[in-house]
Amino acid sequence: MIPRVAIVGGGISGLAAAYWLVARSEESRLPVEVVVLEAAPRIGGAITTEERDGFILEGGPDSFLTEKPWALELARRLGLEHRLIGTNEAYRRTYVARGNQLYPLPEGFLLLAPTRLWPFATSPLFSWRGKFRMAAEIFLPRRIPRDDESLASFVERRFGREALARVAQPLVGGIYLANAQKLSLRSTMPRFLTMEEQHRSIILAMRAQARAARAAGSGARWSLFASFDRGLQLLVDALAARLGTGRVRCSTEVVRLEKAKAHWQLVTKAGEVLLADAVVLALPAFRSAKLLLLASPSLAKELEQIPTLPSMTVNLAYQAAAMHRQLAGFGVVIPRTEGMLTWATTLSHLKYPGRAPEGMLLIRAFLGGEDEAELLHWDDERLVLTVRREVEPLLGIDRAPVLVRVHRHPETMPLYQVGHLQRVQRIEELARTEPTLALAGNSYYGVGIPDCIRVGEQAAEKIWRALSNSPWRSPARSETGDRPTASPTPVDSYHRR
Ligand SMILES: Cc1cc2nc3c(=O)[nH]c(=O)nc-3n(C[C@H](O)[C@H](O)[C@H](O)COP(=O)(O)OP(=O)(O)OC[C@H]3O[C@@H](n4cnc5c(N)ncnc54)[C@H](O)[C@@H]3O)c2cc1C
Repeated sequence: MIPRVAIVGGGISGLAAAYWLVARSEESRLPVEVVVLEAAPRIGGAITTEERDGFILEGGPDSFLTEKPWALELARRLGLEHRLIGTNEAYRRTYVARGNQLYPLPEGFLLLAPTRLWPFATSPLFSWRGKFRMAAEIFLPRRIPRDDESLASFVERRFGREALARVAQPLVGGIYLANAQKLSLRSTMPRFLTMEEQHRSIILAMRAQARAARAAGSGARWSLFASFDRGLQLLVDALAARLGTGRVRCSTEVVRLEKAKAHWQLVTKAGEVLLADAVVLALPAFRSAKLLLLASPSLAKELEQIPTLPSMTVNLAYQAAAMHRQLAGFGVVIPRTEGMLTWATTLSHLKYPGRAPEGMLLIRAFLGGEDEAELLHWDDERLVLTVRREVEPLLGIDRAPVLVRVHRHPETMPLYQVGHLQRVQRIEELARTEPTLALAGNSYYGVGIPDCIRVGEQAAEKIWRALSNSPWRSPARSETGDRPTASPTPVDSYHRR
């Protein structure tokens, strides 16, 4: 009998899990039936690219980090390497908005800390008092709390309040749409904690890293962020093509999951009952909680504690002549203290080549978060007008856009609260007792696309192992040495942070 795996959720996490299982099955010639069940009429979840009038509009994410290798590796396995593009080298700069002015982050300023003295000392972004407080970080002792702490607490104790308000909060807000007071340091930026543990001073640690990188030469094949020539949808489309239509079912929302002896029973919204030997839930945690209420109430209880925030993007296209400010960067972050609803803006036409036709601009604004959930219910016109009122004066734009597009994501951005990692550990322990159930998605170990891919692949590997050791595999078959000896990529060497 061929075992069947149901993957609930057809975002990048579910698709990566499905592809992993199919690759495993083909490699080892042990058949597995894989089906992806997706509630929406389309797959891809948050990833959605539209092509209109020569513009490439990203309605969800527009990039992935190349430092974390899992997205690049997947692209390579899918034969998409020649379609990868890096960010435009001339414009790799971020601005911080303050009082209707844009201040570039000083050169060498890496996320939270300055690594180069002169650009930092001469930057108008910080007051002298703020600069002295930040520089004093070099002399501060280690003070690592035993428990998790908020990102705000960490930045404030090491770099001071001004660094938090003017840089750290806007930068992390532009990623997580959340207040740094609420965000867990261990779950969002664990490397800073490691730096404090290992080097005491973050500035000294980052300077050492920057020196080492310079000494090694600029051999990096890719810029820090990358995408594909036709946008991120290309990755989703390639996965779908590789899986084949028979393995993906859209407009199929799973509303109930029950354990029936050795298999799982999935009930869809349309009332269909599907049986599976194993299940991957590649969903926001609170959605998985709803499905697991009957099968594993204790697991459901932990899962429902991870909140999900709504988010929106507004793409605005203009004639190039509409913009009067000359900017040499593609990112603008807006501190909450500016009183705006927009968290961040990307100048997409500068960030990647081919995003806008010649003579045109493409601006993308990012909104949402816990305190602004009601924006989800605003109509397009109101959202667009709000973004225009906030962003156009900042960028020096004095004409109406020629094209606008709003995308809403009611439940894609998890909130990693202080203590998140401990909760995830409890979730893992509970999930371990169910070998044929795996959790994937962005609710646990990172929101970025590479993290989602890694967690999806790990979930698939858990299921693969459970099926490989189960009665579905006849002893005669496994004794022939047909079992996989190597994974398509070394999943066992992945370290969860
Ligand atoms: C606006 C925005 C910008 C972002 N920018 C970036 C970026 O630039 N770089 C980056 O790396 N990351 C970015 N992210 C984060 C990243 O895009 C997401 O974390 C990632 O795409 C989530 O993938 P996922 O598969 O885990 O979840 P999702 O994409 O949310 O997919 C889950 C799927 O499950 C389906 N589903 C839900 N319930 C059910 C059910 N009961 N039955 C069946 N199906 C169900 C949903 O319809 C959905 O398709 C961004 C996110 C957003 C929203």
